[in-house]
Amino acid sequence: MTLGPLIIVSGPSGSGKSTLIGRMIARFSPRLRHSISATTRKARSGEEDGIHYHFWTPERFEQGIAAGEFLEYATVFGRHYYGTPKTEVESYREAGVGVILDIDVQGAAQIKHNCPSAFLIFLMTPEGEYAKRLRARGKDSEEDIIRRIAEARSELTRANEFDVRLLNDDLEQASDELNQMIDGLLNGRFPEKAS
Ligand code: ADP
Ligand code: 5GP
Repeated sequence: MTLGPLIIVSGPSGSGKSTLIGRMIARFSPRLRHSISATTRKARSGEEDGIHYHFWTPERFEQGIAAGEFLEYATVFGRHYYGTPKTEVESYREAGVGVILDIDVQGAAQIKHNCPSAFLIFLMTPEGEYAKRLRARGKDSEEDIIRRIAEARSELTRANEFDVRLLNDDLEQASDELNQMIDGLLNGRFPEKAS
């Protein structure tokens, strides 16, 4: 059995990662699954443990680090741990299922180093859209939004480490482009390293 592809989607908060990944899962499931990360941040309203994230205590997370349970992990926004448990990825890939990860640029760099066959996508919006979209999403405090925008600036400087950069301006167009890439990956074709 050929290993299912490992697909990484990174990009600033508000760039549309959850929206686009949700669309890809709706389109490609059960050949594609979304890895559920573990995090020590608090659940937002509407988020459920085991569905959006595994919401772990810092103690549980640190046990996981010590036991080598993570494919990658990082401290994001300088204060919360986020990581990909190996159990979310390995057995599925071995069964030929593609796994898509929504992770930050630090995690993406670890994956690139440890899993060279992974395909890395950096998602961006036109400048100035991040703040608008985060405010429109209405799930983060103003303090969190300011922190996320500061982080976006530093993440954008690392976009060139990715295989492709995808602009999420028009949602339908971005969905179509991502559809094509994922369709290719699920059929054993590594997309052109564009842009
Ligand atoms: P991320 O997961 O990267 O933080 P989200 O997927 O939560 O981003 O998107 C942030 C907000 O922007 C959401 O409210 C979402 O509905 C909206 N959004 C996503 N893509 C677009 C787009 N192309 N145009 C306008 N709004 C968008
Ligand atoms: P949020 O708090 O908005 O859900 O996510 C914040 C950031 O953490 C996003 O950039 C997201 O991609 C990143 N993130 C989510 N899960 C993981 C993970 O498992 N590992 C890493 N490194 N980053 C993650």
